[in-house]
Formats: sequence, C-alpha cells, structure tokens
Amino acid sequence: MSAALKLAIGSLAVGIVVLGLKMLAWWMTGSVALLSDALESTVNLATAFAALVAIRVAARPADAGHPFGHHKAEFFSAVLEGVMIIVAALFILREAYDGILAPRALDAPIEGLLVNGAATALNAVWAFVLVRRGRALKSPALVADGRHLWTDVVTSAGVAAGVLLALLTGWWILDPLMAGLVAVNILWSGWRVVKESLSGLMDEAVPEETLALIREVISTEAAGAVEAHDLRTRHAGSATFVEFHLVVPGGMTVFDAHEICDRVEAGIGKAVPDARVTIHVEPEHKSKHTGIVVLD
Ligand code: ZN
Ligand code: ZN
Repeated sequence: MSAALKLAIGSLAVGIVVLGLKMLAWWMTGSVALLSDALESTVNLATAFAALVAIRVAARPADAGHPFGHHKAEFFSAVLEGVMIIVAALFILREAYDGILAPRALDAPIEGLLVNGAATALNAVWAFVLVRRGRALKSPALVADGRHLWTDVVTSAGVAAGVLLALLTGWWILDPLMAGLVAVNILWSGWRVVKESLSGLMDEAVPEETLALIREVISTEAAGAVEAHDLRTRHAGSATFVEFHLVVPGGMTVFDAHEICDRVEAGIGKAVPDARVTIHVEPEHKSKHTGIVVLD
C-alpha cells in the first residue's frame, strides 16, 4: 500500500471517529453550536473521501473505454460532496434560527464539552501527522490538508469557548449565534469545493503562469519551425493536456518535423508535471502570424 493511500485511509478513519464524537457531544447537550462543529467535520470527511477517490480511481491508467484517463472522477466526487456540505450548512442555519428565537439551556454541558474536546484533540494530532508526513514525502497537497485541518481545530476551540461562555453567563443565545457563524463558514468552504471542482469538469485552462511557461518552452525548443498557434490547454486532476499547431517549412521532411515535436514534448513534460502534449504539424502557408513566434 502506498504512503499516500495509507494517509488517505487514515484521514477518512479519523474524520469518521471525530464526526461520531462530535455528534455524541451534540446529542448529550442539545447545543446547536456543537452540532455545527460536528457538521463542519463533514467537510474534512468529504476532502478525505475525494482524496481516496483521486488515489484509487483517478490515478488509474487510461484504458480502451477511457483513453484520456480517469482524472475527472476526483472532481465528480468533490462536486457531490460539496453539495452535501452546503445542505449541512443550510440545516445548521435553520436550527440556529430556531435557537435564536427560543434560546434554551443546555443539558450536561461540561460532559458534552469534554467529548467535543476529545474529538478536537484527535483532529489536532492528525493535523500534525499530516503536515509532518507531507513534508517528509514532499507532498504540498498533504501539507495543505494538514494546515486546513488545523484551522478547523482553531474554529472548534472557538466554538467550545463560546459554549463555555454561554454556560458561565447564562446567555444561552450565544449558542445558536455561534452556530450561525460556523454555518456561514461551512457554506463558504462548500461553495469553494464545488467551484474548484466545476472548473475542472468544465475544462478550465491552466493558470496564466503555467501558460506563459508553456509558450516559453515552445518558443525555445521548436527551433527550425516557423511558428506555433491555436495553443489550447486544460487540466484534469493531476494531468495537464496541451495541444497546438506547429507550422514548419513545407519542404521539411516528416522525420525532421517529428524531431522538433519530440523536443518540444520533452521540454513541456519537464516544465509541467504530467503533461500530455498533442501537436498538429502544418506547412508554411498555414501560418497565422498571430501565434507564438518560434525563435530560429
Ligand atoms: Zn493551424
Ligand atoms: Zn512521435
């Protein structure tokens, strides 16, 4: 089993245990704030699940039925999860609204806070493991996951402090107010998950900097060609698809034109990890003089 797969399964397991404990804390107390904290863990569960899909399904090599690969499985699962997150946030908002209209005292608040605190501690430990393993494996994605989990630990601590304050002051309205804040935060992260995944499904172009890098590689590696035009890019998960037309002198042999293509493909492959390059070769009179000018 690969290290990435082990960590993805670990994240999923921790996410399920944390969600269970936080739901228990809500059930013990009836606190809307603790419910919102519990449902916030569904965001982590969703991310962990998407990571698992990415490793198991999206990383599968291309086959006869899916000749371009399976990368989009990742986006597909993330959109579904993002929608579930948004539904969870709307549910909390409703509960918070009811709570603000009629605030009520919590049952067993100390016990509930202890159970909730145990879940938060588990998250903190796992966030630490993710960042450390991510650094060791040189995986920015893992480090980012760990950092994200850490921000959740901070939010959870804030929620617990709010509930404690409500308990000490007797201002029970603080509980649903806190929940409303958390719900808005969850709505925001759910929206971001959906938006990022949708742009992947919609074949969004690579970022400006990557495009500039690709243009630079073409203009330095394609010596012997006249120009390149109609450059199109899209990314799907870890893969980046690049295609363009390469104009060469009409009298050039297929052998020489192919040499140039191989050089450009190798150059782009080095600059952009997991790039899939397709080049359409054309004779001189097709030149558009608006594309990338190839240096001689
Ligand atoms: Zn063309
Ligand atoms: Zn070839």
